[in-house]
Amino acid sequence: MDDKLMLMIPGPTPVPETALLAMAKHPIGHRSSDFSKIMAEVTENLKWLHQTKNDVLILASSGTGAMEAGIINFLSPGDHVLCGCNGKFGDRWAEVATAYGLQVEKITAEWGKPLAPENFRQQLEADQDKKIKAVIVTQSETSTGVLNDIKTINSYVKAHGEALIIVDAVTSIGAVDLPVDELALDVVASGSQKGYMIPPGLGFVAVGAKAWSAYETAKLPRYYLDLGKYRKDAAKNSTPFTPPVNLFFALQATLKMMKNEGLENIFARHQRLMKTTRAAVKALQLPLLSPDEAASPAITAVAPPPEVDAEKIRAIMKKRFDIALAGGQEHLKGQIFRIGHLGFVSEREVMSAIAALEVALQELGYECFTPREGVATASRVLAQS
Ligand SMILES: *Cc1c(COP(=O)(O)O)cnc(C)c1O
Repeated sequence: MDDKLMLMIPGPTPVPETALLAMAKHPIGHRSSDFSKIMAEVTENLKWLHQTKNDVLILASSGTGAMEAGIINFLSPGDHVLCGCNGKFGDRWAEVATAYGLQVEKITAEWGKPLAPENFRQQLEADQDKKIKAVIVTQSETSTGVLNDIKTINSYVKAHGEALIIVDAVTSIGAVDLPVDELALDVVASGSQKGYMIPPGLGFVAVGAKAWSAYETAKLPRYYLDLGKYRKDAAKNSTPFTPPVNLFFALQATLKMMKNEGLENIFARHQRLMKTTRAAVKALQLPLLSPDEAASPAITAVAPPPEVDAEKIRAIMKKRFDIALAGGQEHLKGQIFRIGHLGFVSEREVMSAIAALEVALQELGYECFTPREGVATASRVLAQS
């Protein structure tokens, strides 16, 4: 049915009506005082969201552009970097770093498992000559629903002393606690179509003092993504290039919504949605890809048994219920389906998705679960939390 679509993919995520309406007007000039006021307000609120006093710069890009900016502004050709790879996004950052001529050492884990902080510790402690210039880690690995242990990995980076930590927080910001200043994270990148609850098109990069001093000597080529330009103009509540101004209207609206809800409540809501989804999926006798102790609050990846076709489940969910779920990526294509519960998502959507999933499983003739056990479990978890 038209207009009924319920997005339960990990980006683009649902956009609240307040933000949609905020965008539905003529663009304004980006050199106008009206725009400067919006720029000042959203920058302030972005710092609040990132729990930082540092710069949070806004780019016209998707999340990948923000990460690319986070990598290229602070490094030089031939620099050694460690890159955590346990999913599609970790692999992408290794590709970006390689494309720019960095020497990449991958720290890998099986897709669906978290990165072992111990492997970072070993590499960093062995690096007596301080050759490692940066450690690149994805906190919430969206392709598998795994939450990597940024705090512990970061503590080893801090003990090393020289390397910067560059964090992909694309499905973390606005979903999971990532206290940027408390952890002294050097670079944190994210994108608008995830926890920010607005359409795709804006990238965000938080940059700390240590990264800015690396910027002074970094020699990789940069122009459109030269963060120094964005910092200079942000100080005047402006942007170096024409920004998608209507997305700023939407961002202004959703950041206000987020402030009203409060960080603690936002994180608690995502925890609740995650716990409910995982418990219900387990009650349906469907295995989860990631372990409970490393579960992403943004997304749950489900690995059904071979007799249940993940793509058929997605097709039924879409056709009968207008619920969009995500499929698997790369070698997990067709093997898993992913339920996004990120951003503008409430308990109602999770209840609906679980009920619809039960119908889809029954339609496919999967009889390994007690009928209604998914919904019963979901309501029990919600009633208790
Ligand atoms: C969505 C996402 C990105 C960015 O993807 P874009 O399509 O470039 O916005 C990066 N990392 C993670 C973990 C993501 O979920």
